[in-house]
Amino acid sequence: MLLPDHKTKIVCTIGPSSESKPVLQKMMQSGMNVARLNLAHGDFDEHRRRIRTIRSVAEELKVPIAILLDLPGPKIRIGRLPREPIMLKPGDMVTLTTGASTDEPGVIPVDFEEFPSLVSENSTIYLADGFIQLRVQRMIPDGAVCIVVIGGLLSSHKGMNLLGASLAVETLTERDREGLAFGIAEGVDAFSVSFIRRAEDVRQAREYAESLAPCVRIIAKIERREAVENVDEILAEADGVMIARGDLGVQIPIEEVPVVQKRIIHQANISGRPVITATQMLESMTEHIRPTRAEVTDVANAILDGTDAVMLSGETAIGSFPVETVQMMAGIARTTEEQRRALAGGGTCEEYFRRGRGRAGMAVGDVVSLNVIEARDALRIQYIITPTRTGSTPRRISRFKPEGWILSFSRNFRTPQFLSFSYGVQPFFIQSEREDWHEEIMEFLKASDVIAPGDRVLFTEGVSPGEAGTDSLTILTVE
Ligand code: PGA
Ligand code: MN
Repeated sequence: MLLPDHKTKIVCTIGPSSESKPVLQKMMQSGMNVARLNLAHGDFDEHRRRIRTIRSVAEELKVPIAILLDLPGPKIRIGRLPREPIMLKPGDMVTLTTGASTDEPGVIPVDFEEFPSLVSENSTIYLADGFIQLRVQRMIPDGAVCIVVIGGLLSSHKGMNLLGASLAVETLTERDREGLAFGIAEGVDAFSVSFIRRAEDVRQAREYAESLAPCVRIIAKIERREAVENVDEILAEADGVMIARGDLGVQIPIEEVPVVQKRIIHQANISGRPVITATQMLESMTEHIRPTRAEVTDVANAILDGTDAVMLSGETAIGSFPVETVQMMAGIARTTEEQRRALAGGGTCEEYFRRGRGRAGMAVGDVVSLNVIEARDALRIQYIITPTRTGSTPRRISRFKPEGWILSFSRNFRTPQFLSFSYGVQPFFIQSEREDWHEEIMEFLKASDVIAPGDRVLFTEGVSPGEAGTDSLTILTVE
């Protein structure tokens, strides 16, 4: 096999499940391109052993495998739990402490001396990528007594996120410097640096690294709000970026992650820097041999959006099916890549009708719907009002995903029901026997305070006598 059968690069985190020669062999033969070692777990001896095994297997198989060393940065973690995992239930009281370790149940050690100065009464503490939420009830000398708000299973060394607490510490920690020195001595190919805020943080890591060796490759992990805001300057300084969705999804509202991901992929593509999309890509495969449909689609969408690489974390580090996960990733990549041109070439639905093949078979309703979009955008009109019998006019307009709402009115009871499936359409049922029910619609909207005198709205209607269907568009200023 001179060339792989897929082009998307697969980054696999190597841990207990994947450190053996036979597993590494199969992962490399299945399409793994980068081995990631996470310094947040394990000691240098363990990582040194893994680096040597990875190098020797890659050599044997004659496959180019890069090694990425991940520096954990100022991430606060809980310490080692005397018994694990422990189940935290809502309402339970737990004590987080930087003090001496004890076997007492409900006591969770924290590996970060400054922890008590970063929280206060009522602070929210997120554990394990935000799966578990605690609230501080009261402070004690070396920690905090907290109530469990959202419970879950907690195991040793899980990460902790404190929103709004600005870490006084530098982005590049002492441990990261040791990690850089270790990685350089072992000849790793690149470093990923956690919790980068701006280009200056990347520069610092680079300066330190290049005081030890020339030409060190640095990948900035985007996992804080500041990094999202400064991504352009970070891209100018770093050799690549990682969209670290685990911490990012706690540091910013989780529902912003998809659009931030798309934007970063786009910006990274423009700047010609490789971008890795990371975390929970095939999460359920940590325990199951098949992924969820949502995960497969997430991987495919990241590829279609232009990610260079996709990453596996726990799936390959501690999961039960490391090889199958890589095979699945490679399969999704191959199948999706084959369709990339076809899908991108299709363009938007609007382009299809304006310039594409849709131009040939245009119906009157298509022309009206395109003009609705044109008028809405040009005049920044808020509402598109569509009286309809069958729902076909609002559906035609809805195809183009206009920014404003499509308010559809029907006297046919079944029509609004089915418009509940169409994007951006708010359906209304009006019982009216009047000939001039259009006026009634306007009265209804005025009475409901949706529109006010002076507003401009778009109004579609069918005016040709004897013809069913919408054939006109009016721009109305409300009286
Ligand atoms: P981590 O980075 O696994 O080192 O935390 C990835 C992420 O935050 O998504
Ligand atoms: Mn992270």
